[in-house]
Amino acid sequence: MVSPVSEERRLDIIEREVPLSGFTTWNVGGPARYFCEPESLEQLRQAMTFADEFELETEFLGNGSNLLVPDEGFDGLAVRLGPSFGNVENDGNLIKASAGTPLYKLADVANKAGSSCFNFLTGIPGTVGGGLVMNAGAFGSEISDYLANLTYLDPPGEVHEVSQEDIRYNYRSSPFQGTSDKIILEAEFELNQDESQPDMSEILELRREKFPYSNPSAGSVFKNPTEAEMTAGQLLDEVGAKGFSVGDAAVSHQHANFILNKGHATAKNIQKAIDILRDRVYKEFGVTLVTEIVVI
Ligand SMILES: Cc1cc2nc3c(=O)[nH]c(=O)nc-3n(C[C@H](O)[C@H](O)[C@H](O)COP(=O)(O)OP(=O)(O)OC[C@H]3O[C@@H](n4cnc5c(N)ncnc54)[C@H](O)[C@@H]3O)c2cc1C
Repeated sequence: MVSPVSEERRLDIIEREVPLSGFTTWNVGGPARYFCEPESLEQLRQAMTFADEFELETEFLGNGSNLLVPDEGFDGLAVRLGPSFGNVENDGNLIKASAGTPLYKLADVANKAGSSCFNFLTGIPGTVGGGLVMNAGAFGSEISDYLANLTYLDPPGEVHEVSQEDIRYNYRSSPFQGTSDKIILEAEFELNQDESQPDMSEILELRREKFPYSNPSAGSVFKNPTEAEMTAGQLLDEVGAKGFSVGDAAVSHQHANFILNKGHATAKNIQKAIDILRDRVYKEFGVTLVTEIVVI
């Protein structure tokens, strides 16, 4: 058994007992036993070695916009790429973006390069890394549609490059989900110059009409089921989900697939609401809803 003191001496980039609620858009969740915001590949490698040596579980955070962190926190090392992983540059028909780049910035740089192909990402509050793990999408487009290749780091500290054809992407799913052993570092995207999507401001307007942005949330809680003709939001609406609440975790009146934090919701409140809603839909329609959000 290694004492915490000797662990702490090893690395000054590692903090202890850092609350994760501030790093999630739901604003809920307890502390990570260890937390690190590396600013370079070298620091990231050191952090992964630290986790390996002390047999700690790792979790990667993007902008935490699809994450539910338990109230008890996370008994391992949470890694969130620091600001220096936020570079994005355009070279002709290609955009190279570090994993920490906000998705709106990707759309912005594409626009400056003459393509509106990433406008669908406007209003999705994630990062390129999180977007590639979740295969973020809207209005019929997905981020993987434009992916050329990406690089990731595996636990021994090796960097790998894979091209889009070698990654099995599906609706809101990628092989990077459910594994906490590969951290995406950067990606290259190919712009589609012929595609014409509505302006970013128009998309934002459309989204504000459709989705609630007034309270903390994690976007759509459930994926749209492939076996049903109705969307998850429609099924939830049919079972009277709008306005249903557990503590301060309340289903939006605007969109039945959004659970809002009305002030002091806990992860337990949110999880209970999810379980009850899934149950209601199953009893009424025989459809088992699958969560889109990631529960740590
Ligand atoms: C108001 C609102 C609206 C939303 N609308 C949409 C929408 O229209 N469409 C949509 O698809 N989503 C939507 N979302 C959900 C969310 O924004 C996306 O899924 C987004 O892509 C998550 O990115 P993130 O950086 O926040 O990832 P996180 O939530 O931080 O992480 C998600 C997963 O990715 C992993 N991860 C993050 N970064 C890395 C990395 N660099 N390497 C390896 N693993 C990593 C995490 O461990 C976790 O498993 C919405 C969310 C909100 C709050």
